[in-house]
Parts: sequence; C-alpha cells; structure tokens
Amino acid sequence: MTRKMTNDQPHKTPNKSGKTEACDVFIIGGGINGCGIARELVGRGYDVQLAEMRDLSSGTSSWSTKLIHGGLRYLEYYEFGLVRKALQEREVLMRMAPHLIHPLRFILPHLPDMRPKWLLRAGLFLYDYLGPRKILPASKSVNLKNDMTGEVLADHLISGFEYSDCMVDDNRLTILNARAAASLGAKIMPHNKVLSAKQEADGWHIETEQGAVRAKLVINAGGPWADAVRDLREGQNQMGHNQKSIRLVRGSHIITKSLFDHDKAYIFQNSDGRILFAIPYLGDFTLIGTTDIDHDDAPDNPQISEAEVAYICREVSAYLRKDITPKDVLHTYSGVRPLYDDGAEDAKAATRDYVLDFEAGTNNRWLNIFGGKLTTYRQLALQVADKIAAVTPPPSNSRIGTKPLPGGDMPAADFAAFFAALQHAHPKADTKNLRRMAMAYGTEITKIIGTKEGAQDLGIDFGAGLCQAEVDFLLSHEWARDVDDILMRRTKLGYYADDEMRDKLGAYLAQKRA
Ligand code: FAD
Repeated sequence: MTRKMTNDQPHKTPNKSGKTEACDVFIIGGGINGCGIARELVGRGYDVQLAEMRDLSSGTSSWSTKLIHGGLRYLEYYEFGLVRKALQEREVLMRMAPHLIHPLRFILPHLPDMRPKWLLRAGLFLYDYLGPRKILPASKSVNLKNDMTGEVLADHLISGFEYSDCMVDDNRLTILNARAAASLGAKIMPHNKVLSAKQEADGWHIETEQGAVRAKLVINAGGPWADAVRDLREGQNQMGHNQKSIRLVRGSHIITKSLFDHDKAYIFQNSDGRILFAIPYLGDFTLIGTTDIDHDDAPDNPQISEAEVAYICREVSAYLRKDITPKDVLHTYSGVRPLYDDGAEDAKAATRDYVLDFEAGTNNRWLNIFGGKLTTYRQLALQVADKIAAVTPPPSNSRIGTKPLPGGDMPAADFAAFFAALQHAHPKADTKNLRRMAMAYGTEITKIIGTKEGAQDLGIDFGAGLCQAEVDFLLSHEWARDVDDILMRRTKLGYYADDEMRDKLGAYLAQKRA
C-alpha cells in the first residue's frame, strides 16, 4: 500500500544526510499521544513521521500511576464528559492489549469525617453506569472487618466500597503504539530532537538533529514541552501565539516492598481532599501516589521532594495498621502532568481533559495537543485524525480501529487462558519470569523463547530473568539502545538489577553498537 497524499504532495527536500525526506504529517513527541496519533493516521493512509528527542515514552508517559481508569475523583469536578470518555476506553483498550492491561479492584475505605457514604455510593453508581461495562464487575459495599483487604488497615476502618478499573504498563502501551504505526509504514525516530520549524508556501520545513523534513502538517505532541515545541516555529512571537497553554503539575510516587499479599488496590481520601492510590506492583512492591504540585522548573528531570515523600507517608499511614516512613521507601519517581491551563486555582482541580488547538490554514497546518490522559489517548488520536481529515482527506478508506496492539492478538482477549497454555507449553520455565514476559510481549513471546516444538537458545543470562534473546528482540523490534531503555521502560527489571547486571548489559549493548 502506498502512503502518499492524493493531493498537494509536499516538495521533497534533501536533508543533511543528503537523503530526500518529505511526509504528510510530522509528529513531534514520542509519548502516548504522539505514538497513538501516528498509529491512527498511518492507519488512514497518511505518510507519517514521528521524532522523539529522547527514548520513546521517556516523558510523562513513563511516570504515571499506570491506571486505565475513568477517574472517580473527576466526578467531583463535574467532568462527566471526561469520565464517560475514559470509562468507555477501559474495555476497548483491554481487548486491544490484554497482555498490558489488567482489571484491578479498588478498595475505598469510608471515613465518617470525609465524603459522606451516600455521596460515595452515588459516585460509584454513576461510575458503574456512565460507560459500557461487560468485563469489569460493578462496585459493591465491603465489610473491612471480615474481608482480607481489611487486615492491613487501621482498626477504626470498618466499612468501605470496592470498584473496578484497570492497570497498564504505560511505557509498553506507548511503544506498542509506535510499533503498530511503524508496521504500517510510519517512520519513528527516537533520539531525534526537533530544532525548528519554518513555514513555507506549501507546508513546514522542519529541522531535526537527524536532518530536514518537509511536511504538510505538524502535530505538536510535546506533552509538558508543548509550549516550547510550539515556540520552535520561526517568527512565533510575531504570530501572537506565545502565550502559556500548559500548566505543569508534578505528581510523585513512592515504591515500598509489598504492604499486603492480595491483588487489590486501595484508594484513600486524604485530609486535604486529594486521594492516594496504593497499588500492588510487579508482584513484589506497592506503588503509592500521587501528589499534585505546581512545577515551576523545566519538565526534563522532575524529582520528588522530601516534603512529597513525607506527605505520602503521612497520608497513607493514616489508613494503615503499621506506619510507612521514608525509611520504607525503596524507589521514587516523578512526572509532570501537561495539563491544559484552564485557570483553576488549585492544581488538583485543573482539568484532566485535553484540548486540540488546530491552526488549519492552507500552508501552516499545525495542531497543538494540550493535556490528555493515557486512558483517553485513542479517543484523542481519533479526534485528531478527524480534524485532519476535514482539511486533508485521508489517502485511503482503511481504518486501524481497535486492532490488537502487537502481542495482543490472543483468543477472546483472554490473558489467563493464554498464560495457562503458555505454561503448559513451557513446563520448565520459571513461572514468575514467564508471567512477566507474557505480560510484556503477549503472543510475541514466542519470538523470544520459541515454541514448545522449537525452544529458542536464550543466550547470555544478564540476571533477574533477562536473557540475550529478549535484549536482542528489544534492540531489533523496539528501538532500544541504552541500559535504561531496557531495564526501566521496556521491562521493569531495573527494580531488581544490581550494578553487576547493569554493567554486563551495558557492555553487551556497547558491543552490539560497535
Ligand atoms: P509525554 O509522554 O511527555 O510525551 C511528550 C514527548 O515529547 C516526550 O517524550 C518528549 O521527550 C518529546 N519532546 C518534547 N520536545 C521535543 C522536541 N523538540 N523534539 C522531539 N521530541 C520532543 N493518565 C492516565 O490515564 N492514568 C494514570 O494513572 C495517570 N497517572 C498519572 C500520574 C502522574 C504523576 C502524571 C504526571 C500523569 C498521569 N497520567 C495518567 C497522565 C498521563 O501520563 C499523561 O497525560 C500522558 O502520559 C501524556 O502523554 P504525552 O504524549 O502528551 O506526553
């Protein structure tokens, strides 16, 4: 299938490497929004390129709470449209990526001096029925005195509620969208910073670290860098658009060893009206967060503050039988929410919905994305594609729709059945590591470990379950380059890695690059 525009084909321009580069749509930013849009647009036949200045999914899409959720708390801010949109996506995304996205039950303990019981019950009723729900069970009341989830909770917590949402591997969701886009012909370029964009008679001339590209239309999916990306346009200040559209709000998490030995999560209401999640993570840890702090620095490398650690420990301890202190914190991470600046006074009240700002002239088509959530990335991509189609009809009638992401093509999207069959086919494999890989690669796991009939040589053992065959797969299929690309983004084995493992992997990667 050719992926050329049917009209107004952009002129081809030699780039610095002497190669001619031109495309219909150039996307700046390889987070969930950029990669999701690339998949949707290439699925409609556009010729798409995407440049990411660092590793794919190394921005905010790395540092989320990892939930595909409606956002129960947004109901309080009357964001019914956002909650409905997000609730609709839960089961759609579960079917597209049953290996990455798994149902999770949340326990919401009730405290008499917090939101009243009737309000919680009404909110959960809305949450159950605002969006379609065939797989995820409805909410219910729970007696914490005779439920195992009550065992770790403080004595005064007697009752609560239980409801459904989903857990996701945010990095892999992003990277698999990029892979889906690439498999249809999109050019995905990590480690390629966009330096400037100049308006020309027939589109944009874009300078990147790897050369120049001409594009009919540019999409700014720069997440927390979206204001800076918009300002890359030559003459931006004269264009009168140099206002600030993004409000940077930092959210931080702490990771402790597992605080409980069941597979449900908790949502706690804090003394300041915020909420905190405590989520079983990777089988060995509990992930607790998040905060909402206006972030005045650059978004490049946000760090948790001591005050945030103290806040999370204090608030979560109010609910637990045993206090959590900063000494219990094994790891932390922080991300910056690229929220659309709607003028809300309080960071926690700023809208979590996205805004598409499309300048749809004839030779300066440029679309800024402000805000958005992981959960709504596909909806956002659909809306972006529809806006573009209105000015540049898609070259083909095809649609990628809800086609499974790479590795998600398992019968009836049933991960449990898929994993049981996998275990049966590989009886000698370590169950925990097999599950980890099945959750990361889905049906593509056979490309790494082989099949029952033909087991693959797994090569060097780097430790923590990481083998050479997996590393080679990530190098050849998923744009991995550096140690953290593998240990922190494409796997989460960095939480188990020691210096020896890092050094061994680093030496192997250096040798592969040589
Ligand atoms: P990013 O992922 O930041 O991607 C933007 C990319 O643009 C970056 O990778 C950056 O390197 C690149 N870039 C910038 N400038 C340039 C340039 N000049 N050239 C090339 N590339 C460039 N959402 C949920 O649905 N569920 C959750 O549980 C959830 N939890 C969250 C918790 C926290 C603490 C935070 C911070 C966010 C959370 N979110 C959640 C929201 C969600 O993570 C973000 O909305 C989403 O990841 C934003 O994706 P993005 O693609 O817009 O931005």
